Amino acid sequence: MTDSVRLLIHGASGRMGRALLRLAADDPSVDVVAAVARRIDQRVVDGVAWFTAAEMRGAPDFDVAVDFSLPEAFDQVLALCRQRGKGLVSGTTGLSDAQRAAMEQAAAVIPVLWASNFSLGVALLHELVERAAAALHGWDCDIVDSHHARKLDAPSGTALTLGAAAGGAGATPRYASLRAGDIVGEHLVQFTAGGERIELVHRAASRDIFARGALHAAAAIARRPAGIHQLRDLL
Ligand code: NAD
Repeated sequence: MTDSVRLLIHGASGRMGRALLRLAADDPSVDVVAAVARRIDQRVVDGVAWFTAAEMRGAPDFDVAVDFSLPEAFDQVLALCRQRGKGLVSGTTGLSDAQRAAMEQAAAVIPVLWASNFSLGVALLHELVERAAAALHGWDCDIVDSHHARKLDAPSGTALTLGAAAGGAGATPRYASLRAGDIVGEHLVQFTAGGERIELVHRAASRDIFARGALHAAAAIARRPAGIHQLRDLL
């Protein structure tokens, strides 16, 4: 492997894909060798070769695929990584139980990292939620996620992961979701008892925070063995 890690970006034409391509262009630790999207207008954009989903098997050698697409596109990128013996970093949310199981099976032979949220702030929020849930027995626990109007899944993947953290520490989380305008992503975890309330909030102002975390994870995972890797171990 050369010094820079060769990336295939899957979902490259999307909101996250475009942020990944822009940031990767200025990051010497990674080199994007292929961009894949459902449809493409041009074969080469800013020196990067583009492939449609149907052509993806013809993509050049890569070290790690970075996937921010949709559940219906996920199986094909997982299959390509398995077939090539290469790592997968995915932030695609709304995956089915069968897709999660397939990812765990693939981790027997390739390094895999899936995270519902690639921001450092949300990684810390998980720890704060665990602490609060463990300390506040019997308090109501409510998780509200707010996202842009075109987001397909609700509750968000991050809300569900935060809920799992709260549930594991003894709370019983309830969920509510707002879909409005161009909100990048906000998560409120609220603990309420008679007469008092604690609110833990994270607000993402730009998709760049997720893209930076994913590129960092991709550069790190390329040098790790097969298995399921956790973002908190790499950040
Ligand atoms: P988007 O709709 O803007 O982009 C989706 C991309 O997937 C496009 O490039 C599209 O061409 C591609 N695509 C769709 N169907 C495909 C197919 N069959 N084959 C190949 N490519 C296909 O979406 P987005 O806002 O960029 O979000 C993408 C995913 O990332 C969503 O699941 C979203 O929830 C998730 N997300 C995760 C994080 C995180 O930190 N984990 C942050 C933001 C978004």
